Amino acid sequence: MPASPDTPRPGAAARLAELIRLRTVSAWYPAPDRADVAEAFAALPAVLERLYPLLHRHLEREVVDGTGLLFRWRGASPLEPLVLMAHWDVVPAPESEDGWVAAGWDSDPFAGTEGTVNEEPAVLGRGALDDKGAMVTVLEAVEDLLAEGFIPSEDVWLVFGGDEEVGGRNAAAISELLRERLQSQGTEPWLVLDEGGAVVPSPLSFVDATCAMIGLAEKGQAQLRLSASGAGGHASSPPAGSPIPRLARALRRVERRPFPARMNRTTAAMLAALIPLASGAAGRALPWVTRSRSVAARALGAMGGEPAAMVRTTVAQTRLAAGTADNVLPSSASAVLDCRIAPGQGVQDVLADITRRVADPRVHVELIHGQDPSPESPAAGDRFEALGAAVGTSWPGTVPVPYLLMAATDSRHFHAWCRHVYRFAPLRMDHAQRASIHGENEWVSVQSLSRGASFHRALITGRGRS
Ligand SMILES: [Zn+2]
Repeated sequence: MPASPDTPRPGAAARLAELIRLRTVSAWYPAPDRADVAEAFAALPAVLERLYPLLHRHLEREVVDGTGLLFRWRGASPLEPLVLMAHWDVVPAPESEDGWVAAGWDSDPFAGTEGTVNEEPAVLGRGALDDKGAMVTVLEAVEDLLAEGFIPSEDVWLVFGGDEEVGGRNAAAISELLRERLQSQGTEPWLVLDEGGAVVPSPLSFVDATCAMIGLAEKGQAQLRLSASGAGGHASSPPAGSPIPRLARALRRVERRPFPARMNRTTAAMLAALIPLASGAAGRALPWVTRSRSVAARALGAMGGEPAAMVRTTVAQTRLAAGTADNVLPSSASAVLDCRIAPGQGVQDVLADITRRVADPRVHVELIHGQDPSPESPAAGDRFEALGAAVGTSWPGTVPVPYLLMAATDSRHFHAWCRHVYRFAPLRMDHAQRASIHGENEWVSVQSLSRGASFHRALITGRGRS
């Protein structure tokens, strides 16, 4: 019998705390002076084996590309498997020494503390939400089902990358491996689920309800370098059109002309799901506004911040470099733009558009790195319904809402060959908790761990019943 979603498997919090104590900071690995980090990376697979013995007895494990962990749980059929993803590397956090608490944190980020936050039992530390907590919800669900003798109707693959925060080569290699294996059998994953959205109270200012924000797509990225050059020379007799003012004018033109707000299928689906949940004046206006895609796009665009980023390609000016001395004209000046690309545009479109906006042949625009936005997975149909049903079982009263992810996840390596890629970690994350990801005082409630495991149980067992 499945336990109530609020009854954790005994020890789940302690298991997450133990994983947090392993300093698997991918940005510090490999580094010659960090033997402890290398040890943590080497130790984690063995620690998982000790914490989840049934999973390691019944599932086949492969280590791919050094730190990628791939598990196969054989079901009654190998076709259309379920792929559950997470990553076990984390971003850096300040390190505590000799009992001193790390700067900005209320407790040691790598102590793996069990305590309380806002009077809720919690696990604190780097990775509690991103993404060891999410990985633990998958592991707990599988271990629990194995203890009951459950056999899935189709294969379940678990994909746990150890380098997501530094590029995700593990997931890329695993995706390639799975593609070869599954395509040779003429099949593809039924569903790929990775981190991304979460259970979010009041996801937009005009929504009072708690929503399961399920990422259908993720934005692309283009990092561009703008550079201007000139003769340089003594600052006492400056010529016109030297690099700094030329570059500054180009940056100002880019700043003044943002990309237009355009509705995309995912954000339109989000608004449609939010209509019944919206309150106040916005609640009254939303049904009207959403009748016209362009009006809705402009309304979100006018809100600024995250709502605006859902409907347009954003441009952040992130770096600026010029000059070597106070009294010397520089011979060059450069700036970096970090553009996050909305669905419907590609890297080359953004490069061409920015070049047009710069409107100066003497300012060179070049692409440093680019990734097109992902395709948009369907906001309806059996996969989205299965996710919604699992949310209903584990997070009663929470409404599944499609949404566009601003960040990149490991799942981007799958969308080239899988049609149903979704991004959702079944953990509650309020506003402060979302800010704590890659920030300070990251924590997850013990209730979230329990409900998250219940979500994965429901997802894994649900297909057999359909
Ligand atoms: Zn992550």
